[in-house]
Amino acid sequence: MRLILLGGPGSGKGTQGAVLAQKFSIPTISTGDLFRKNIADNTPLGQKVKQYTDQGALVPDAVVLDMVFDRLVQPDCAAGYLLDGFPRTIPQAEALTKWLSEKNAAIDHVVLIDVDDEVIVDRLSSRRTCESCGAIVSVKFSPPKKEGVCDLCGGKLVQRADDNPGTVRDRLQVYHKNTEPLIAYYRQQGLLRAVDGSASPELVTKAILAAVGAKS
Ligand code: AMP
Repeated sequence: MRLILLGGPGSGKGTQGAVLAQKFSIPTISTGDLFRKNIADNTPLGQKVKQYTDQGALVPDAVVLDMVFDRLVQPDCAAGYLLDGFPRTIPQAEALTKWLSEKNAAIDHVVLIDVDDEVIVDRLSSRRTCESCGAIVSVKFSPPKKEGVCDLCGGKLVQRADDNPGTVRDRLQVYHKNTEPLIAYYRQQGLLRAVDGSASPELVTKAILAAVGAKS
């Protein structure tokens, strides 16, 4: 099973990705998470991409593609994977299609999680991520039992550097300009499955499973 999760910032790709990856026993490859890890570890890649991620701008395609293709040849990707935050531009999508076809492989489904911009701005201002286990919570919609502490592992809940209102608006603009054209690209290939992402996380999961022909 090779899946792509498509949707704006804060549409729920990370939350749904975690549930779906577990359900299908495949890894989630999140380019944003890979960049944040490299930045935290201060690797050469992290140093190169920080200026882009800080501003909510796209990292150049060549850098993203190198990192993703290195990751997709790892043994844990052999039975499939879920891509979260990649591809984000038409050149990235075309490079992925070509790379896969050279391996006689293809994407099975592209799930579009559709959410209005106003909902996204509201969600992202209240989003926190656990530094230790990566869990995503909302201090507004699903507050942790103890402020600043992850319910799952006791780790520290932090706000992403790019979740401030100004950068969120920039990221939304980038999404509409560069990533939305992928909807038509994948629709044309018969791969697009759109779900309403404004419902509760549980209902969105149900809708995605139905859309890809899997049982809840
Ligand atoms: P995300 O966690 O998916 O919202 O990604 C965080 C940031 O990482 C984005 O705002 C971009 O700066 C960068 N990024 C992640 N994935 C990509 C990609 N596929 N292409 C270009 N930049 C990306």
